[in-house]
Amino acid sequence: MTSTKYRPRTIPITEIEQSAFCRSDSNLKSKTLAEELKAGVRWQRVPAEYRTLDTDEIIERTKHARAKLGNKIMVLGHHYQRDEVIQFADFRGDSYNLSKYAAEKKGLEAVVFCGVHFMAETADILTDTDVSVILPNLMAGCSMADMAKIEDVEDCWDEITGLFGEETVIPITYMNSTAAIKSLCGLNGGIVCTSSNAAKVFEWAFERGQRLLFLPDQHLGRNTGLKFGVSADQMVVWSPFKDHGGNSIQQLNDARIILWEGHCSVHTRFNVDQITIAREKYPDVNIIVHPECTQNVVKSADMNGSTELIIKTVTEADPGTVWAIGTEISLVNRLANEHPDKTIFCLDPVVCPCSTMYRIHPTYLLWVLEALNDGVVVNQIKVDEKTRLHALTALERMLSVS
Ligand code: SF4
Repeated sequence: MTSTKYRPRTIPITEIEQSAFCRSDSNLKSKTLAEELKAGVRWQRVPAEYRTLDTDEIIERTKHARAKLGNKIMVLGHHYQRDEVIQFADFRGDSYNLSKYAAEKKGLEAVVFCGVHFMAETADILTDTDVSVILPNLMAGCSMADMAKIEDVEDCWDEITGLFGEETVIPITYMNSTAAIKSLCGLNGGIVCTSSNAAKVFEWAFERGQRLLFLPDQHLGRNTGLKFGVSADQMVVWSPFKDHGGNSIQQLNDARIILWEGHCSVHTRFNVDQITIAREKYPDVNIIVHPECTQNVVKSADMNGSTELIIKTVTEADPGTVWAIGTEISLVNRLANEHPDKTIFCLDPVVCPCSTMYRIHPTYLLWVLEALNDGVVVNQIKVDEKTRLHALTALERMLSVS
């Protein structure tokens, strides 16, 4: 019987740095890069002249640089980006929709992806091979994706399939994972899911295997499993740092879903007490949260769903309604500004943006656009061909299900 190899327990740096940009006031206006560098997180170095530019100057120069590039490039902006960045997005969306936009548009030379690393990788997988995908700050990772390292997942996969046989286990990875994890899923009969289609993907997978390995977000996996009718005692959590993931062989044998021990540092900040306080303050409040929140938060909320579903629900709600939202603050603030006829606020009273999304300071966008105008591609994200092909298989399976 194999056992998990010993690896020292390491918390991803992106997770440790998560609170770096939390504030007690609601003002998330960008400061100069030099000032923001003092937050103590890892930033990519940029030429010195960019560090002291103020926001107005950055915006003016970015407008000029963007206009000169015309339709040779596309700028994509994830909903969790800062306002000073998202204003330059040709398309706004969640990670999957943004990559799809880029893949559908022909004749592009470059895609500038204002999001995090795994999103730029997905865009590179889905776009033509001659399109350069650029991530403005290479330090913009994702703490959840960082919690599933490929070598740990390979150990887990070898052990589980060694115990039960490859044909009985279907690996599913959430979009928020590295290209290497998507590739492992593609190679082994598995699939990718988003927070919108996770239940459909579970149905697809259970038609093909007795148990699922769900990566890397245990909360989305658990919340989807419960929705799908799998009971809590039929799900176990796999810790990459413990023998058998911290389970007995019997527990693994009885499990229908094995959940990787990963989470989103942003969505696990929400708790049931915040929901109680919101209901005390606004008896008519509607509570809507993302399914990356914990099971108790999802259970206590009135609704839960993907970023796109949250936007649609709040946008279509009647004037005068009250919404407490459990998702990333940049998006919640934007919704509040765009819908002044409704009361919209974040469940968490501390203003805490996703620290990795926040690393796309507007200066970085300016830097990569001006470089493109000079004929230089900086920060290209390139997935190797073998990984790309298997990851594409897993993504295409998801498309066929959706
Ligand atoms: S919000 Fe969570 S899952 Fe999304 S990029 Fe930030 S850390 Fe990753």
